[in-house]
Amino acid sequence: MGIAVSPQIHPQVADFIEKPRKMLINGKWVSSISGKTFPTYNPATGEVLAQVAEGDRQDIEEAVKAARKAFDQGPWRRMTASERGRLIWKLADLLEAHTEEFGYLESLDNGKPLAIAKAADVPLAVDLFRYMAGWATKIEGNTIPISVPYTPGAKYLAYTLREPVGVAGQVIPWNFPLLMAAWKLGPALACGCTVVLKPAEQTPLSALRLGELVMEAGFPEGVVNIVPGYGETAGAALAAHPDVDKIAFTGSTEVGKLIVHAATGNLKKVSLELGGKSPNVVYKDADLESAIPGAASAIFFNHGQCCCAGSRLYIEKPVFDRVVEGVADYAKKINVGSGLDPQTEMGPLVSAEQLSRVCGYLESGFSEGATAIAGGHKKGDKGYFVEPTVLVNTREDMKVVQEEIFGPVVTAMPFSDPEEILPRANNSEYGLAAAVWTQDIGKAHRTAEHLRAGTVWINCYNIFDAALPFGGYKQSGWGREMGHDVLNNYTQTKAICTKIA
Ligand code: ADP
Repeated sequence: MGIAVSPQIHPQVADFIEKPRKMLINGKWVSSISGKTFPTYNPATGEVLAQVAEGDRQDIEEAVKAARKAFDQGPWRRMTASERGRLIWKLADLLEAHTEEFGYLESLDNGKPLAIAKAADVPLAVDLFRYMAGWATKIEGNTIPISVPYTPGAKYLAYTLREPVGVAGQVIPWNFPLLMAAWKLGPALACGCTVVLKPAEQTPLSALRLGELVMEAGFPEGVVNIVPGYGETAGAALAAHPDVDKIAFTGSTEVGKLIVHAATGNLKKVSLELGGKSPNVVYKDADLESAIPGAASAIFFNHGQCCCAGSRLYIEKPVFDRVVEGVADYAKKINVGSGLDPQTEMGPLVSAEQLSRVCGYLESGFSEGATAIAGGHKKGDKGYFVEPTVLVNTREDMKVVQEEIFGPVVTAMPFSDPEEILPRANNSEYGLAAAVWTQDIGKAHRTAEHLRAGTVWINCYNIFDAALPFGGYKQSGWGREMGHDVLNNYTQTKAICTKIA
């Protein structure tokens, strides 16, 4: 597939996207069984970027077979935890050595600024692999004193093992394509599972390149299989597959519910990291010098395409005008452009669908009486750009306040009484993240305690670390990503009891 490759593009990336990309099954790069491919687009131009093998039910079948065999019979299960850890560490080293290349690939396929991809997405993925490499040797059971009231006088030695759950299916989204692949692969491999990963159809390239590094690192064949394709075909087949022991999903709440239904056939284990509509609460005693840019980057980072974006900004009345004007000024100054342009601070949205979805929400907000004090429109005629937008005159019952927009659109609303803010902040079907800005340490922690969210940031936003668990309350998900919590997603406990007297 020849495309007009700009001279700016990293040479290895140009080579990588020049040929149709294949899928990784059982250690081999293969075309889809149907022979079909699908295009992935450059969101800055709307032009086709590369062609990718289109996996469907049949390819998922082959990938699951390979993962099953690698789990049941392959060298993977016989490897020591230390050997598994070393392979994951090696993958981290290889990825780090290719930071520049992955930054370009991610910027081209997703649209995000190259500098951000290199400074955040790639290093976070590297760190995650290293953190998980360390866990491989530390997944332990317990010895448990048991009493057994109906066998008086008998003695037992009882202990638990934490065993890998088996074949893990993993379906990931397009907003952080490489990082989401790392969040999924890292813990599954540390726990000793084998994997079939399906990247998002909008952004399959970095996961496929990562697959090459997986093989270069020396993972045995079939341990990691990567099948690009569409959600309704490849994704649905993976979620429903009877030989998949666990499905891990990151994406919309709507699709999360479909995954749960699909998983009922064999009652596979399910973990879900879903949508959000996160409240960001600025009290009047906050340090506004940091709260204003903090509130702006809470929503505008990654073009608002973050499940934890601070999209509902609640500001205490006495500082409302100052904060909202500050956030609007910040929005107006953001340089919106192609991710490869070094001046760019915000790139395009990922796809034409996403652009029309965000614009649809803007229209809905305006028709219900909202006003934009920054942005409010699509930007330019080429690519999928939208202006960073601050909406005021919004009410709790508006769609723009209730529903996840997944774009650079924040609704700013005043509150007068600190008592009133918690019910309003918690008035959402989601519970992924929240933030509070105040210099009163007691108020900060009391607010954090009452916010129904899996993550609460105090005087900061979007702080992620491989060691810090991340996941949702309410309809934002099941289970946690990262930290040692994530190991629960990929292990199960076996209790072993021996009569010794
Ligand atoms: P978005 O709407 O933002 O694209 P989705 O939740 O639809 O987010 O997509 C996240 C991931 O889920 C993608 O990899 C997509 O292909 C996949 N997906 C979409 N629909 C289904 C489905 N019915 N079953 C399994 N996976 C799906």
